[in-house]
Amino acid sequence: MPKIDRVEEIRHDVIIIGGGGAGLRAAIAVAETNPDLSIGLVSKVYPMRSHTVVAEGGMAAVAKPNDAREFHIYDTISGSDWLADQDAVEYFVDEAPRELIQLEHWGCPWNREDSGQVAVRPFGGMQIERTWYAADKTGFHVLHTLFQTSLRFQQITRHDEWFATALLTADGRCQGCVAIELRTGEIRAIRANAVIMCTGGGGRIFPFTTNGAIKTGDGMALAYRAGVPLKDMEFVQYHPTGLPGTGILITEASRGEGGILLNNQGRRYLENYDLGSPLSLTDPKHPQNRTMELGPRDRLSQAFMHEQAAGHTFKGPYGDYVHLDVRHLGERHIDARIPFVRELAKNYAGIDPVKDLIPVRPVVHYMMGGIDTDLDGATALPGLYAAGECACVSINGANRLGSNSLTELVVFGARAGRHAATVAQKHSLSDTPEINHQLEESRSRISDLQNRPKGGERLADVRDALTTAMEAGAGIFRDETSLAACCDTLRDLRKQMSHVSLDDTSSVYNTELTTALELEGMIDIAEALAHSARHRTESRGSHQRTDYVTRDDDHFLKHSLAFRTDSDPRIEYADVAITHWPPGKRTYGAKPDQKENDGGNQ
Ligand SMILES: Cc1cc2nc3c(=O)[nH]c(=O)nc-3n(C[C@H](O)[C@H](O)[C@H](O)COP(=O)(O)OP(=O)(O)OC[C@H]3O[C@@H](n4cnc5c(N)ncnc54)[C@H](O)[C@@H]3O)c2cc1C
Repeated sequence: MPKIDRVEEIRHDVIIIGGGGAGLRAAIAVAETNPDLSIGLVSKVYPMRSHTVVAEGGMAAVAKPNDAREFHIYDTISGSDWLADQDAVEYFVDEAPRELIQLEHWGCPWNREDSGQVAVRPFGGMQIERTWYAADKTGFHVLHTLFQTSLRFQQITRHDEWFATALLTADGRCQGCVAIELRTGEIRAIRANAVIMCTGGGGRIFPFTTNGAIKTGDGMALAYRAGVPLKDMEFVQYHPTGLPGTGILITEASRGEGGILLNNQGRRYLENYDLGSPLSLTDPKHPQNRTMELGPRDRLSQAFMHEQAAGHTFKGPYGDYVHLDVRHLGERHIDARIPFVRELAKNYAGIDPVKDLIPVRPVVHYMMGGIDTDLDGATALPGLYAAGECACVSINGANRLGSNSLTELVVFGARAGRHAATVAQKHSLSDTPEINHQLEESRSRISDLQNRPKGGERLADVRDALTTAMEAGAGIFRDETSLAACCDTLRDLRKQMSHVSLDDTSSVYNTELTTALELEGMIDIAEALAHSARHRTESRGSHQRTDYVTRDDDHFLKHSLAFRTDSDPRIEYADVAITHWPPGKRTYGAKPDQKENDGGNQ
């Protein structure tokens, strides 16, 4: 049980900030590593509302005799445009089947084949079918499984609806966080010998996104402010098939099951593009050729932009779009394999995919970058760990392959949990005035924000200006002019943010206050992103610069590291870990040994 020493201070051995897939898996790992440790799980929403719950398509792991670890490793590295750390990818691929079987033992209802074996489906950029799934509600089932398993451990205390606002540090170590209890408005220190950040991504810094409203990148901003660099922030994944307007995701599983993309001339336009797949180049019209629609997400989103420029997209109130056609799959197949797609299309686009075409457009989906960690999830700040989408370990490099992320949560959530547990038991908390001082600083920052004179800048205006600037300056295609303008706007917005005034002074569930705190963090991570993108004068994976169109391994086979300063972020670089797979051309569908000799600098 947690110790509450003084009214304002709660103590645990380890706290985990974030109750999504990564956070719950980490909490279970800490509990299993040392049952004597007290664990606090801090989450701004009830854990089952975390974004993991909406993941649809599935989780990748080698399961079938036609697959092999080398294939999964190669697909991931090649998909990352050689920016993934290969030691991390090797560990990830080796652990993935173990973790997915563990989920099965904890109760995850994987779809099965008639033989009783686990079923797998194809997914973008994966040369072999290896995506395990539970219909198209995989995240829902996985999060339920983890949540229910976490309930078994008495030593895990949940702090649901507590919003973390700052990290606490003393004696050079991270020793907890400051958090607001949203139900009462009380601001307290939650102390611990180790903190694992599992706060998810920050897609909300863009206007069209599949990401839920809570995905504002808070944990990245907290770590960044505590001096930890953000790695590879320039790499943002657009998913090619979101619903216009809401950004709601139409899962890649719809294309995995055989859905095709059509432009405004009714043409399967992807046949005109090099998606890195030999199949799509040699036999684009073959009816069985699903590889085309299952090219990597960055290439598909870029193809959309070219179609738009050629006038081959439809015009709609929420921007241009194309069509996704799944009608040929038939009602039975759609209801059995992608029922959620039908439900979403009916509820949010007013159409039935059994007989209608689904309007889709690229929408921001995932951030490859995040808090810089090593393989154990440890950051540069002793005692602070990170796992899941907020972290960059890095297995995703310049472009994540669909269905690798959910697997990453459990593989690296577990490893970070085990490591943090071992370290936490070796330390004790320092009772220094420094901690009280930091708590007071947090309190006065919040009270200043709430007590500013009325009539200042509006939160909504600053947020709109931020998302508009990001889409215009750091979207699917970028160049020096667009990025420079974006950086300028962000600098102005940071100033404007200090003049924002709030109307709601209540202490109970004050969402205006949390929106303001989120927005401050969003500006921080947006700056890290835009400046990292500006410094990377090459094109790689999801980072496509129209003024530097080729990959430049001589200068940029490197991770970027953005450090927070009092003015613009400082950008440094770190080496990429290459174990056995020298940089080559991104292709899909050939065997790894054929590709190793590809070489090239594309
Ligand atoms: C629509 C959609 C579908 C997807 N489908 C797939 C898929 O099929 N396969 C796949 O591999 N990946 C998929 N992804 C990606 C994957 O789901 C996410 O990357 C992953 O779920 C992130 O998990 P997480 O545990 O890191 O964070 P999340 O699940 O986002 O959880 C973050 C947690 O942090 C907490 N938190 C945040 N800020 C604070 C704060 N300030 N204080 C306290 N708590 C805080 C939140 O309350 C929440 O509990 C999908 C993503 C989306 C958006």
